[in-house]
Amino acid sequence: MSVAPFLRSAGILLCLSTFGSAGLPQALIPVDHRAMHRTISYEEMSSFLQQIVRPGFITVTEEGRSTQGRKLFLVRLNRGGAKARFRVLYYAQQHGDEVAGKDAQLTLIRDLARHPDLLPEDVDLYLMPMLNPDGAEAHRRTNGVDADLNRDHLLMAQPETRALQQLARRIRPHLAVDSHEFGRDGDGYRAKGWEAWPIITMDGANHPLIPGYLKRAGMEAVASAAPLLQKAGHAYRRYSVGGPPPEEETRPSTPEVDDGRNGMGTLGALSFIIESGVRHRASDPQADLGERVDGYRILYQHLLGNRPWRNRIRKLAERARREPLPPFIATNVFWANRDGKVSTVKITEAASGRVLDVPTANDMTDLVVKGSVPTPRAYVIEASAAARFIPVLEAQGLRWETLVAPRRMRVERCRLLRLEEPYDDLYQRYKDRQIVERLAVADLDLPVGSLLVPLDQDLARRAIQLLEPCLLYGLYGYPGFRDLARPGASLPVSRVF
Ligand SMILES: [Zn+2]
Repeated sequence: MSVAPFLRSAGILLCLSTFGSAGLPQALIPVDHRAMHRTISYEEMSSFLQQIVRPGFITVTEEGRSTQGRKLFLVRLNRGGAKARFRVLYYAQQHGDEVAGKDAQLTLIRDLARHPDLLPEDVDLYLMPMLNPDGAEAHRRTNGVDADLNRDHLLMAQPETRALQQLARRIRPHLAVDSHEFGRDGDGYRAKGWEAWPIITMDGANHPLIPGYLKRAGMEAVASAAPLLQKAGHAYRRYSVGGPPPEEETRPSTPEVDDGRNGMGTLGALSFIIESGVRHRASDPQADLGERVDGYRILYQHLLGNRPWRNRIRKLAERARREPLPPFIATNVFWANRDGKVSTVKITEAASGRVLDVPTANDMTDLVVKGSVPTPRAYVIEASAAARFIPVLEAQGLRWETLVAPRRMRVERCRLLRLEEPYDDLYQRYKDRQIVERLAVADLDLPVGSLLVPLDQDLARRAIQLLEPCLLYGLYGYPGFRDLARPGASLPVSRVF
């Protein structure tokens, strides 16, 4: 897609004066965001947002509170009113110590406040710049009760993730972007005298339940951003996780749905994660903050695209929401190098700054389905487990029926054989994969108090991810649900045909 210049030309940046008494001092957000070298705190952001409101254009609301009572701000920019049909949600700092996305969003808001005409009239732009203010204040990844918010989009046990997902269900964005940072100078790289090459990376949603046309549009946008970042002098590649090549494996973002990116994707949005690279061991890790902020700004701008792109994405996202469920649900997927191809991974030699191409066959870029089950008509939750499930069904916005009389249905129960596999350091998840046996389908009388969750509902994909008992990495790996899965016993959720 071609992208009109938007907020980046030097002329625009130079004509911005200090925001003056009505906002942040220039020292905090320099006129040119590329000169930033210090992140903006919760308190500074709060006072900035209170003063940035522009009736009829910029509104600031509170979408909820963190576990320690801090405000979760939502900023909405819309100058087209009802004509603004392309809804965009940019959110950041779920991990409190990953700051650049928030800083990029605040500079974007500042610049749009000065130059409203730079926001296309057909764009309805929502921003949640700081989803984890407690973690931000404590300079740590987790929230105020030490939960990792970007592993909470399935259970939604935390108020911060509930606020974000409630917003997403209310506005149904066509495009959504999560914003993170990764370490460029991890132990494995340092031991080799290297550091990870990119300063800015992006990946799309990849969950198997997201229609292929939506995932392909995301990958197109990831690829077409490359020349823009190259022109601005920023090292850029598709986001991947993993250790140094060629020995260590690298793979794209996780295909699970407990993160924001796939959570939004399964709601029917073109959904991305952006990760910028931090040198944690540098004497001042924020010395190059402005460079990371600029990488973010280029990608945020790139994803708004031009009007034909926005119209195309809006239609694709709306089509994905109406898309019938597939006949089979992938229950076991993994990343592989299907053809054994040798690819090159770029690294930076720390001492010289030279960029090297390292050949590897351990770059796993193909998502392979190893197991699937037929899609059921509904799921039924045993009455004895209903109290445990109802808060999650509510948090997910799912529709269900509590049986008030016994009902005869064709039911497939599943039995847990065992939980296995240790923690996966690469994805920071995947303890306890579920080895499950499907039992024969039988006509059963479901007792009073059972919860019936039909799949003919708007959020059916979320219901599947939450309830499907055959998923290799499902609900029973989570602490609050582990005790419901006893090896040898049937699981409390069954498949209904
Ligand atoms: Zn993160």
